[in-house]
Amino acid sequence: MMLDRPPSRAALASKPGEHAAAIDDVVIGGGFFGCSLALYLRQTLGRRVVLLEAGSDLLLRASHSNQARVHNGYHYPRSLLTALRSRVNYPRFLEQFRDCVDQAFDKYYAVSRNFSKVTANQFRSFCTTIGAPITPAPAAIRKLFDPDLIEAVFTVQECAFDAVKLRHKMAALLAQHGVDVRCGTEAVRVRARADSRLLVECADGDRGHEIAAKRVYNCTYSRTNRLLASSSLPLIPLKHEVTEIALVEVPDAIKHLGITVMCGPFFSVMPFPSRGLHSFSHVRYTPHCQWQDVPDQPYMDPYAVLANRVPQSNFPRMVLDARRYMPILAGCRHVDSLMEVKTVLPRSDMDDSRPILLRRDQGLPNLDCIMGAKIDNVFDMIESVAGTAAVVGRESA
Ligand SMILES: Cc1cc2nc3c(=O)[nH]c(=O)nc-3n(C[C@H](O)[C@H](O)[C@H](O)COP(=O)(O)OP(=O)(O)OC[C@H]3O[C@@H](n4cnc5c(N)ncnc54)[C@H](O)[C@@H]3O)c2cc1C
Repeated sequence: MMLDRPPSRAALASKPGEHAAAIDDVVIGGGFFGCSLALYLRQTLGRRVVLLEAGSDLLLRASHSNQARVHNGYHYPRSLLTALRSRVNYPRFLEQFRDCVDQAFDKYYAVSRNFSKVTANQFRSFCTTIGAPITPAPAAIRKLFDPDLIEAVFTVQECAFDAVKLRHKMAALLAQHGVDVRCGTEAVRVRARADSRLLVECADGDRGHEIAAKRVYNCTYSRTNRLLASSSLPLIPLKHEVTEIALVEVPDAIKHLGITVMCGPFFSVMPFPSRGLHSFSHVRYTPHCQWQDVPDQPYMDPYAVLANRVPQSNFPRMVLDARRYMPILAGCRHVDSLMEVKTVLPRSDMDDSRPILLRRDQGLPNLDCIMGAKIDNVFDMIESVAGTAAVVGRESA
């Protein structure tokens, strides 16, 4: 159960049998990042780890409700570092999570004649620079696009991940390596204890308890600042958007295709493996509203912002625009929409970069905040935590 307000201190008590000295690390947030970090701490460093997840299961929030693209660099012509990190991490992701990805579709990137931030030539030479495979798309594919609006179409190598398979895989690995996973348990506040351990106040249902640990990792993504706010700690400037990824059935002729028109106010349609559908997103219509967490300003819980919105789909607008470029998209049938909060560092707006956030000792010694901007960032995150990262496009302080 999610609590709007933390329980009173009196309602909190240590769980029976909980030995304060027994736990090294508490990881808060069972998304892909929290799970991966907990696994690393346990498996590689041999630490005793508790993973707290407020929801009923792992990977139910942003790690599930996204576009499912495993980035291979193509998406980031405006941020060479992000593109290059994607190129490094793509094969690593495929190697470790091959059983969780769908590679059985052909992927195409198209460049618009108007409003695009890159031309076809610029895109081709950018791909050459980052070493990303690119060839002109076959004529049968080019015919799907309006040649008056689309300058060029390229065949590229990119795949999609299945978030449900990823959830099962992470849960099995966590169990295998002995991470203590507690779903349905929300961390409501963190404070320091006299012996330099941190105390995490938790709520599970109507009960509360405390966990003492040497180090606490806040991996709650859009809710990073919620824990900080409720612990009276300084906030990190973050930008949030309520987003909509539409899930659609596409016409048979494009069932085995993934399409992205870039880079500007365009769209993507690509397989969404865990539902056997395609995701449909549009740069203009996927974001429904946005706001920023600003230090010293009143704080809004992103989950509450999302929960309090009247759900209304932007899919009709997405398809109305996209079908001008690809008339066949008029035949898409809207099945569902995934609404989720997307959180990025404010600077990402300027250069479209996707660095990880790693804040050590955020307001309290041994309280670290970690946020990744895309799934494959997870390798950069682990290297940063391990202190072995060379250049990872990291926002740290
Ligand atoms: C619309 C959209 C499209 C995207 N598209 C892509 C894409 O195509 N490819 C890509 O690589 N990335 C994409 N991303 C980014 C990617 O989804 C995120 O970078 C990634 O999922 C973040 O993982 P996480 O574990 O940090 O967050 P989450 O998966 O959100 O995990 C955070 C967890 O913390 C839990 N939690 C929150 N508060 C508490 C608390 N107080 N106590 C305990 N638990 C708590 C939540 O329940 C949640 O499970 C997209 C994101 C969005 C929103």
